[in-house]
Amino acid sequence: MMQRPLLVSSLIRHADACHGDTEIVTRLTEGGLHRYTYRDSHRRARQLARVWQRLGVQAGDRVGTLAWNNHRHFEIYFATSGMGAICHTVNPRLFPEQVAYIIGHAEDAVVCFDLTFLKLVEAVAPKCPSVRHWVAMTDRAHLPASALPLLCSEDLLAAEGDGYEWPEFDELTAAALCYTSGTTGNPKGVLYSHRATLLHAYAINLPDVMGLSARDTVLPVVPMFHVNAWGIPYAAPQAGAKLVLPGPGLDGASLCELYCAEKVTITAGVPTIWLNTLAHLREKNLRLPLPHRTIIGGSAASAALIHALEGEQGIEVRHGWGMTETSPAGTINTFKAKHAGWPAERRDAVHCTQGRILPGIELRIVDEEGRELPRDGRAFGQLQARGHWVCGGYFRMPGEPQLADGWFNTGDVATLDEDGYMRIVDRTKDIIKSGGEWISSVELENVALGHPAVALAAVVGLPHPRWEERPLLVVVKRPGHDVTAEQMLDFLRAKVAKWWLPDAVVFADAIPLTATGKIYKTKLREIHAGFYMKAGGAG
Ligand code: AMP
Repeated sequence: MMQRPLLVSSLIRHADACHGDTEIVTRLTEGGLHRYTYRDSHRRARQLARVWQRLGVQAGDRVGTLAWNNHRHFEIYFATSGMGAICHTVNPRLFPEQVAYIIGHAEDAVVCFDLTFLKLVEAVAPKCPSVRHWVAMTDRAHLPASALPLLCSEDLLAAEGDGYEWPEFDELTAAALCYTSGTTGNPKGVLYSHRATLLHAYAINLPDVMGLSARDTVLPVVPMFHVNAWGIPYAAPQAGAKLVLPGPGLDGASLCELYCAEKVTITAGVPTIWLNTLAHLREKNLRLPLPHRTIIGGSAASAALIHALEGEQGIEVRHGWGMTETSPAGTINTFKAKHAGWPAERRDAVHCTQGRILPGIELRIVDEEGRELPRDGRAFGQLQARGHWVCGGYFRMPGEPQLADGWFNTGDVATLDEDGYMRIVDRTKDIIKSGGEWISSVELENVALGHPAVALAAVVGLPHPRWEERPLLVVVKRPGHDVTAEQMLDFLRAKVAKWWLPDAVVFADAIPLTATGKIYKTKLREIHAGFYMKAGGAG
């Protein structure tokens, strides 16, 4: 066979050649919708590669982004990686100090940003000496006044022709860089090679994974700054799917408007996004157009959420698991033929797991001594991964992460069964140790979310004078619903082991979330640190 390198540029070239008239629709940061095609996008990506050359960006240099999901961000992905430089997506929801740290650690040469993030850029710029150019992703008419010497992306593009040939180079070259959200310690950079990115795209386009096709319209709600929107910006042009990019409009109303107007068939995002969208659908008594398949991951999708989306809306839910270090797709939930004959309850138990291992990746669970545990769906242990798109080393952090016999330690605790279905029990640092036994905070949250008055639930283990740690349940009520702590505990009592029952329930207006939309457990533990100690253990 020929030895052709697996390069990111081949994806956009393919989309131009075979899906040239397929649309990319964007909700612009400046307002209004923007519509063009893969052919237009490919032309502008080639122009942008010439812009990078003119600005002195060399192969291997990092081009940072602070941007929503939009067509300009999409072009930056392809222009930057395509020319052999590295597209470094920075999460603009992080604290300014973290943003400055990440840009400084990566030594970004250029940073492109959406207008929303002008203030952030102005705050961090003095701390980012490596950045030679700050590029506002907009046109001249919208270019804001700033003390910084900003470049205007549309002006830069207008000055260049599209006569550019994508270079060929080693497929192991880095294409993209993304830092972990790092709720503790400094964020760590994961470099994605062209090869890993391509193999990941092939894998997520398999029918039992995301299964994008040239008949689909896909809307990644998951941000392009969160593990490359789970690889959808690569998988969509590969499959020739129409792409809808929601820009800054991530509230339920804005998303539903796009789902309906563009007849979206595939979406992807974290559970909290769907909780908000579902609240909007219920309030307005709306039905989304079908078919609609949604990929939910990033944190555990509760059975209540899965059932509501399927039962109320007829949406097909595929629950998946992954992490920045696994590109991210590791598992995804679809049934096998044999499940058709299973009783409903047993089928549902499979359906609500984090899903089956993708081909191209391997998972195993081990005990504290590193011994592999049985794949029986019951034994739980440290989840480890290896595969074509699993991180083998962090960017500029020699010796990290430490691999165990070539396996990456995910920091999750999980079960595996004989068919490769994986169930997350907890993050290692969130699992609750009580009187020498383990309690899964994730499972308690899932049960609590099944109560009709609960909008959001979080469980954390807090220091306890007698039991080492005991669970505390924090609940945000659904508007117009009421429930007392006692009623909440009664509801749980029927569904969990007696010693799992939280000692107390507190109600809150909101639960702190991380920059990637996960429950910020470190913060919650801080807020409630002395709860059981003060209460003398009575809870
Ligand atoms: P990040 O690298 O920020 O995407 O975070 C990865 C972590 O999110 C994983 O190690 C898990 O702890 C968590 N996670 C991702 N998907 C799921 C899921 N479906 N269920 C439970 N936890 C998840």
